[in-house]
Amino acid sequence: MSQDNIVIVIDPGHGGLGGGSDDGASYNGVMERYINIATAKAMYEELSKYENVKVYMTRDNPDQAMTLKQRAQFASEVGADYLISIHYNASEEHMIYGSEVWIPSIGKYYAEGYGIGQAVLAEFDEMGLYLKGVKTRVGDGDDEYYGIIRESEKLNITGLIIEHCYIDNTRDYAYYCNQEAYERFGRADATGVAKALGLKSTQLGIDYSMVQAKIKAPVSRVYQDETPPEVVIKSCSTDGNGIVNICLYAIDGESGISHYAYSLDDGVHFSELLPWYDRDGDHEEQITVMNVSGNLAGVVVKAYNNYNLVSTSNRVLLNGINGVFVDTHVQETIESTLTETVPYTLESTMAVSETIASTSAMGTTSSSVAETVTERKEKNISQEASQSSSETTLQEEMMPIMEGEETFHSEVKETGSLADENLRYHNRKTGAVVAGALFVPVVLVIFFKSVLAASVKKWYHKIKETIMNNVERMKNG
Ligand SMILES: [Zn+2]
Repeated sequence: MSQDNIVIVIDPGHGGLGGGSDDGASYNGVMERYINIATAKAMYEELSKYENVKVYMTRDNPDQAMTLKQRAQFASEVGADYLISIHYNASEEHMIYGSEVWIPSIGKYYAEGYGIGQAVLAEFDEMGLYLKGVKTRVGDGDDEYYGIIRESEKLNITGLIIEHCYIDNTRDYAYYCNQEAYERFGRADATGVAKALGLKSTQLGIDYSMVQAKIKAPVSRVYQDETPPEVVIKSCSTDGNGIVNICLYAIDGESGISHYAYSLDDGVHFSELLPWYDRDGDHEEQITVMNVSGNLAGVVVKAYNNYNLVSTSNRVLLNGINGVFVDTHVQETIESTLTETVPYTLESTMAVSETIASTSAMGTTSSSVAETVTERKEKNISQEASQSSSETTLQEEMMPIMEGEETFHSEVKETGSLADENLRYHNRKTGAVVAGALFVPVVLVIFFKSVLAASVKKWYHKIKETIMNNVERMKNG
């Protein structure tokens, strides 16, 4: 064995029987305790085919319990460079699907974790999974939120959590339906790791030394996204024959848009969570809803970012006749929308509100232009903390602000109760993230009126330019 061997510890999450049992996510008879082992074993076998790498597993028996600290200690004892924790996901309302990887938030740990995370998700992408990103999460004391990452980092090991897919959502069913599916994931994990680390395998006839990930270590800690996305219905129409077309604008400059759901009855019922594909990068999607029947009420869309933070769009009224979009209460709609869009920004105010609303003629030419600029004030941290104390404590990989969709696991179990964990998390000064949220301009362009006076257009462009400059400044700052 040469000295430059990379040591990788594969850690199947959860496990144990009796008092110390931890099944992990469990749904319809599929249990993490078992399937994590299946995936980890396949990963172990595949990764062992590469040279200059030594692979271990923390455990290979689903009934064996281990604390997160013990797993990290085991990794340290074998001289691990990486500890890769194998998991599957589930959410409270069983609506979320897709894959994500949690990585350390600091320095070389971040860089190494990010390289592996991206490479693994690229494999999942090829398999057809929906990707929810490579992410960090910082908790109490400005330390890693997830126990296995935190314990690993203490021992100078880069820890990662791979959440392969959701075992409680049919969209991911093909990826968790049987033993072959679990093993396929394990091989994909190994391939991703081999690519990120530039490994070679004579046995497999593979040389990834040219594709090795090279990620620069960030200067400061990389925090999670704590602000919800922006979402606007730009236009909406119906042909009167059961088809509704919605032009949706959604953006999240930090973690990206993950899913959206629409409602045609004023938000009483929403569609399932739909994937957001913005391949051309214009932050817009044309949504066509087929076979719509009954009386249409207000159309509303919810958008989720990759941290499952959710925003609700403006409400648009449809009268159901010949593609006519009727919105006679533009100002009112926008104001109520903004309140909804930043539901947890307790002191959000509309500091600037410029609205240009033309007369709204009924009929096929009904249109208006409305533009609103808001500034967000800093979150009231103490109020947020008291709010969080009433949150459910059943779920462990809990997102701070979610609407009924919370992911549960036990990666943070080791340090105090979850209620504490969440409370402390909410109390954390959000630093750059909140700074970024200050003065975020929200642009709502509902409709262009073709007969707008040139001077009004000029005014509009000037405002837009100012906003874009602000956005650029934020990005650069
Ligand atoms: Zn898990």
